[in-house]
Amino acid sequence: MTKSIKELSKNELAGKRVLVRVDFNVPQDSDGEITDDSRIKAALPTIKYLIENDAKTILVSHLGRPKGKVVESMRMDPIAKRLSELLKQDVMKLDEAIGPDVLSKLMSLENGGVALLENIRFYEGEEKNDPSFSKSLAELAELYVNDAFGTAHRAHASTEGVTSYLSPAVAGMLMTSELEMLGTKLDSPERPFTAIIGGSKVSSKIAVLKNLVKKVDTLIIGGGMAFTFIKAQGGQIGKSICEDDQLDTAREIMSLADDFDTAIIIPEDSLCMSAEVNLFDECKPSDLIETEVLDSRSIPENKQGMDIGPKTRETFAKLISQSRTVIWNGPVGVFEYDSFEEGTKTCAIALAELTNRDGVTIIGGGDSVAALEKFGLAKESYTHVSTGGGASLEFLEGKTLPGVACLDGYSKDEAASTSTKPNRSFDAELKKASV
Ligand code: ADP
Ligand code: MG
Repeated sequence: MTKSIKELSKNELAGKRVLVRVDFNVPQDSDGEITDDSRIKAALPTIKYLIENDAKTILVSHLGRPKGKVVESMRMDPIAKRLSELLKQDVMKLDEAIGPDVLSKLMSLENGGVALLENIRFYEGEEKNDPSFSKSLAELAELYVNDAFGTAHRAHASTEGVTSYLSPAVAGMLMTSELEMLGTKLDSPERPFTAIIGGSKVSSKIAVLKNLVKKVDTLIIGGGMAFTFIKAQGGQIGKSICEDDQLDTAREIMSLADDFDTAIIIPEDSLCMSAEVNLFDECKPSDLIETEVLDSRSIPENKQGMDIGPKTRETFAKLISQSRTVIWNGPVGVFEYDSFEEGTKTCAIALAELTNRDGVTIIGGGDSVAALEKFGLAKESYTHVSTGGGASLEFLEGKTLPGVACLDGYSKDEAASTSTKPNRSFDAELKKASV
């Protein structure tokens, strides 16, 4: 198991300078005001643990995409200010992230003190994972903690390179809980185990579909990507979104489902609108749009499907309620528009109800989390809402995350891909062989 900061005792931490990679890439308005500080709050348990254990905490994060240059509007000052308010203690904000000046200032940090380095992406060496840059960063500290799950799928200097020069290198509390929830919990799930995969494109979710179809009992496909599956089965989808180059992928996933005895559920009805309307260019999210419920397999050329229909809402809600573990990634409709939010809302509510009945509900994906926020559903209504969009997707695909693999104690078995259900065709082969 990846070593967690909790395994480091006061003895090992007191008086030590600890470099902590956090994800403070928060949204800001045009005046630089932080519009959502949940990422800062998510790192507090780790920071507080270090403070309580008399360590000297040196935080490092990226903010925005400055692409290796100093961009004044992307400095970390507003974040240091908010963090200081949340911690109710001073945070030493540094205007650089490496170098002798930074080190000498850090040397004045007291036990239990907290410092925040400048935006790490102001330096070209960060995204290039340049060894000499990693070394300079490592020189600031004696220990390393990675609590930035959201960037763990990138091998950058502050997420990966730096671990070549710092030991111990351990996972922060947020990182540990992400690994537990997306890894351990989903590796030996209480069944029935259901996945709901939505979003616009099959191509962006091929790997996760192929991985999950071998593990779950039911794979629910919603959103725009369902139409590629429907077309692959010979249905008429009108002008609904479809990736014609993914029809074979859809067929391959359906055949895997057959091999692994997984039920694939595709929306039977869809909430459609006129194909003439370009929703994103012509409509406001609050507009009341003229809709029609149609059989998903016979949508005429002048219509396009934007959300699941009422029958499908009922089916999805029922399947969710009959499950014990559900993983959800990707909205099942264009939820950003009020007229097409009902399907996604139904799923979100059914998941919250399942959580209430002690089911395990895990949600990942940037837009899925945005949907919860739109509906005013608290993260606490679910077992786990992942903080890492891209990272959680790559983890569910079974990929090794470089920012995790470089930590102490990591073993390959922790990747989400390791266990699958028995393959039915393989079973049949065995039976045949033994006759
Ligand atoms: P996540 O970020 O949760 O992984 P994705 O990025 O894969 O989700 O997909 C989210 C997008 O999919 C949303 O912007 C949503 O509007 C879009 N979408 C959902 N259903 C449809 C549909 N029927 N047609 C077109 N786009 C859709
Ligand atoms: Mg997205």
